[in-house]
Amino acid sequence: MKNEKKVFTLTYGCQMSERDAETITEIAGQAGYSRSEDLDTADLVIINTCCVRESAENKILGKIGELKKFKEKNPNLKIAISGCMVQQPGALERLKKRAPHVDIWAGTHNLHDFSSLLQRAERGTKVAEIWQEPKVNSESAPLAEQGKLQANVNIMYGCNNFCSYCIVPHVRGRERSRKPEEIINEIKDLVASGCREVTLLGQNVNSYGKEFLPSYDFADLLRDVDQIPHLLRIRFITSHPKDLSDKLIETVAKGDKLCEHFHLPIQSGSDLILQRMNRKYTREYYISRVREIRKLVPNASLTTDIIVGFPGESEEDFEQTLEIMRLIHYSQAFTFMFSKRSGTLAASMENQIPLDVKKRRLQRLMSVQNKESLDWRQGMIGKSYEVLVEGPSKTNPTRLTGRTRGNELVVFNGNSNLIGSLVNVRINEAGSWTLVGEIE
Ligand code: SF4
Repeated sequence: MKNEKKVFTLTYGCQMSERDAETITEIAGQAGYSRSEDLDTADLVIINTCCVRESAENKILGKIGELKKFKEKNPNLKIAISGCMVQQPGALERLKKRAPHVDIWAGTHNLHDFSSLLQRAERGTKVAEIWQEPKVNSESAPLAEQGKLQANVNIMYGCNNFCSYCIVPHVRGRERSRKPEEIINEIKDLVASGCREVTLLGQNVNSYGKEFLPSYDFADLLRDVDQIPHLLRIRFITSHPKDLSDKLIETVAKGDKLCEHFHLPIQSGSDLILQRMNRKYTREYYISRVREIRKLVPNASLTTDIIVGFPGESEEDFEQTLEIMRLIHYSQAFTFMFSKRSGTLAASMENQIPLDVKKRRLQRLMSVQNKESLDWRQGMIGKSYEVLVEGPSKTNPTRLTGRTRGNELVVFNGNSNLIGSLVNVRINEAGSWTLVGEIE
């Protein structure tokens, strides 16, 4: 069948959202659409959405609005909007009213049903369908683009933690882990198609397998994935500090392919705010986990997520956050201003912080982290690190780029036939975000 039709996919949000966009695009591929980077000539446009912050949602709504003129130019164009923003309780009717030019509305639980939604839309029907709960086996065997050097692999879906600021449990449902053999087979297929690095994905990978009997937890899965031949590297995201076990840290310490990088969102350095966030750990407990990592995996790099301006956050609470950043020395931190999400507990909390205060605190936080990131990378100068060569540098295509096991980005000279292989790079220069080195 001649593959005339083209699909253009745009995704917003986290790695899980990117992974979902991958699945939907692959399903469109099986329906005869080839991938295109050109919106103007697309026959199908897919936008996979995010609603973790108001700013993300406003950006997406603007993009959906823009598509109206493309539809006017090409009335046969099909527009599909999917993901967390659509899955939000009470959002679908509001969105349909706002964007009648959209042909398909789908949530987070019915991605695998996209082919039937697409067929109905191709027959001219406007389709709007979200499932309140995932259906059994509706999430098995996710499709992924073959032949890529790096791939994201879902190991579980949903979250049971209900942090008071977070919309995720409301749009992705309760935690459910994929069967280990399914995950391992998916990775073996990816490796057979040329993949050499996988990132295991979950809202809270540390609680993987909690529902399994006999017990088989995340550390067990990592140990088994570490045995897969020809795979070079394993990463995972996101870890919840309350479920970070000694067993998991020991497994990373012993694993050949398990990269020594922990993304461990702390969110705040103040116990009072951690409690209001319903994070279920204290500052001291978090520090004790970091100490255990530093003891068992001395060269590990730590990154984190931090929210400033959470309702009720005093200057003193904020100072405690800055203090813990200076104590832990993160190699990188993703920093955000608190954003009210309707349907979450924090949205209706008292003592909402004014925007100018949030902005001022975010500035201070970023300047503290910029210094920490620079210090961390300057500490790498003169040392050698194993780097997986990913491809040409985005800023200077005559050079190559790749990441250390600690997930630090490195730029260096080298022949493109090194792409996909591990090399040792000696670091000569360091910026806050990028390192420059030479292959040894
Ligand atoms: S752990 Fe908390 S912040 Fe992370 S997805 Fe779950 S509810 Fe949201």
